[in-house]
Amino acid sequence: QKLKKVCIVGSGNWGSAIAKIVGSNAKKLPHFDDKVTMYVYEEMINGKKLTEIINETHENVKYLPGHKLPPNVVAVPDVVEAAKEADILIFVVPHQFIRTLCSTLLGKIKPTAIALSLIKGFDRAEGGGIDLISHIITRHLRIPCSVLMGANLAGEVADENFCETTIGCRDTKQGPLLRDIIQTDYFRVVVVDDEDTVEICGALKNIVACGAGFVDGLGLGDNTKAAVIRLGLMEMIKFVDVFYPGGKLSTFFESCGVADLITTCYGGRNRKVSEAFVKTGKSIKVLEDEMLNGQKLQGPFTAEEVNYMLKNKGMEEKFPLFTAIHKICTGQKPVAEFIDCIRHHPEHM
Ligand code: NAD
Ligand code: 13P
Ligand code: CA
Repeated sequence: QKLKKVCIVGSGNWGSAIAKIVGSNAKKLPHFDDKVTMYVYEEMINGKKLTEIINETHENVKYLPGHKLPPNVVAVPDVVEAAKEADILIFVVPHQFIRTLCSTLLGKIKPTAIALSLIKGFDRAEGGGIDLISHIITRHLRIPCSVLMGANLAGEVADENFCETTIGCRDTKQGPLLRDIIQTDYFRVVVVDDEDTVEICGALKNIVACGAGFVDGLGLGDNTKAAVIRLGLMEMIKFVDVFYPGGKLSTFFESCGVADLITTCYGGRNRKVSEAFVKTGKSIKVLEDEMLNGQKLQGPFTAEEVNYMLKNKGMEEKFPLFTAIHKICTGQKPVAEFIDCIRHHPEHM
């Protein structure tokens, strides 16, 4: 049997943390080729190319400083070069870049390749709805795409602190293969077949995390934050029920559901920037640039995409939390009105 080759498409904060795991598993396991390619969006750091820095020092000094990558992970600035021989493509870029990457890769990858998306977010679909990122990958590249989502703040995963994650994979042959390349003693994988629900959980919890950040910025305390988390969870469940019927309630109790919601609402970037948004009065965009050193926020974008669909379908008031967060992020509503928007939530009727 031929060795499976793996390519990681992306090298941000989470991309680099997962490269540490995938690189060490590929090296250790006999059925994977030791060499793992990692597509790096090239940029200059103090006059030197980031790919060169990574390949010489084995550290992504910009997006995951202080952690060594295994030397068998090779940074490649050209995505086609990185991906063309891969049997497994692991997509982990901020969701706003996925369409361009797919069009660059079309026809340039192995037709037998499979994909795993770690991307949390949606895109707009024609006709007023949203598209799941894994569906975009499948449609544009004509390969199957599973998903991985969980309570996985990248820095803590890179520190090798114990956590869990969820792989959503319908194909019973691919599930074990994907688990092999991802699982470690400290990073425990549960595979479920409810792919779409797993992915939707990962995207929607970033919206709720903005709400948690507003609560922190407003100084409202832990009970209010818990209420926002709970109402957020109820809107997540309702969203799947209305737009992707057939999902399982049990999926919300996997790491991709409640656990990711909690960790992101306490320790995530979306929470942090949203708190600063309240305290400084600066725009989300300005704060993203000031606070994240090139890392990208997914929550405000996802709120916008979800709102685009809810508005088109006349369903904004059925999802008051998602709707309020979008309006606050875009300056259509003052953050002081946040709690008033959810005081009479449908969950209380
Ligand atoms: P990030 O937020 O660190 O984003 C920066 C990355 O985007 C860098 O690699 C940068 O080079 C790249 N980039 C910038 N402009 C680009 C362009 N025009 N084209 C292509 N790439 C470009 O990225 P991340 O943290 O790895 O997040 C990727 C996905 O993983 C997101 O959907 C995120 O929600 C999800 N995720 C993140 C974490 C986390 O803790 N960071 C955890 C779980 C999931
Ligand atoms: P943030 O993007 O808000 O940091 O969330 C990271 C995450 O998805 C943790 O699982
Ligand atoms: Ca090997």
